[in-house]
Amino acid sequence: MNMVRLDKQKFDDFIRELSAEYSVYAPGKVGGKTEFIPVEPGDETDFTSPVTDMSPKGIFFPPAEVLFEYDEDGVRAAETSHRPIAVWGMRSCDARSLVMLDRVFGSAIQMPDDERFQDPYWKEKYDSSLIFGFACNEPLSTCFCNWFGGGPHNRGGMDVFVVDAGNVYLMEPVSDKGIEIIGKLSCLTDAAEEDEALAAKLASDAESMMTASPDTDGLGERLTALYDEPIWEEISAKCVNCGACTFSCPTCHCFDVQDEGRGKKGKRVRIWDSCMFPIFTMEASGHNPRVLSRERVRQRVMHKYSYYPENYEEVLCTGCGRCVMVCPVNLDIREVLKKIIAYNEQVI
Ligand code: SF4
Ligand code: SF4
Repeated sequence: MNMVRLDKQKFDDFIRELSAEYSVYAPGKVGGKTEFIPVEPGDETDFTSPVTDMSPKGIFFPPAEVLFEYDEDGVRAAETSHRPIAVWGMRSCDARSLVMLDRVFGSAIQMPDDERFQDPYWKEKYDSSLIFGFACNEPLSTCFCNWFGGGPHNRGGMDVFVVDAGNVYLMEPVSDKGIEIIGKLSCLTDAAEEDEALAAKLASDAESMMTASPDTDGLGERLTALYDEPIWEEISAKCVNCGACTFSCPTCHCFDVQDEGRGKKGKRVRIWDSCMFPIFTMEASGHNPRVLSRERVRQRVMHKYSYYPENYEEVLCTGCGRCVMVCPVNLDIREVLKKIIAYNEQVI
């Protein structure tokens, strides 16, 4: 199917049509920050920045999610809406992050027998979702999606690829679900040849704005070789272990499970956690295998660029740059990677 166009004046009609079948999410302001929020026709959206302050992972993996409730009569499944979710305005890096998370929650490899685990809470939401991904026409200086197979106009993880082209949105279906929804929406019209040429020009302009990638080949092996090297002391020296990088990251997915109860009734809740917190790995005995900051920083880097790729052949980082933007001490993951690559060449 070719590209179609949506006149921006018909945006409310588009959301109205989509809402008939889906709960629709789009970037909006909450307390001065941008995040993905449920929207209805006429609601204000905010596309001012290519990267929302909070990533869209919370739509499918909420910061706090009730798994089940219990009382004297037994255990009951948590109530869910069962409406499929459509997300509008998800950038290329974020659409790719959902594919990465889906490998963990949707078909995780269970060691050592290679069985697959499927998280029902994630799957119910993600499998029926519809992702309208957004091209970045003006990437930020903190964006490095091109380092690891992405790009400002990459279509990975999307059902429909959308380009903001002035007065219109140009849309190109990417998946079968995308073809189906584009065929159903009456507010769309066929794009012209000039529209497609404009989309291609915006793509090449955006690509040219990206900074060149260092040589990341064999990064996982290089990291493994440096596991016991003193470089981690230097890298982690200024980290205050606040966890902001992991909470803002679209691919970080560590969680804790807690019971919130009173008397004989309560609920079991899954809550985001962070490997950067000192008590994250504290065991009941009091022993903590990652008591030092350098061990925790190393874990975060190793997980993203060595352990995850060992299982899934892709790094667990989309280069969205959020961790670069939020770190209160300017610990820039791009500089960390460059330092590791340079150190590796010098030492190994
Ligand atoms: S945001 Fe920066 S200081 Fe905070 S835990 Fe992450 S790397 Fe450390
Ligand atoms: S590690 Fe940083 S750049 Fe990579 S996906 Fe997470 S927040 Fe984005």
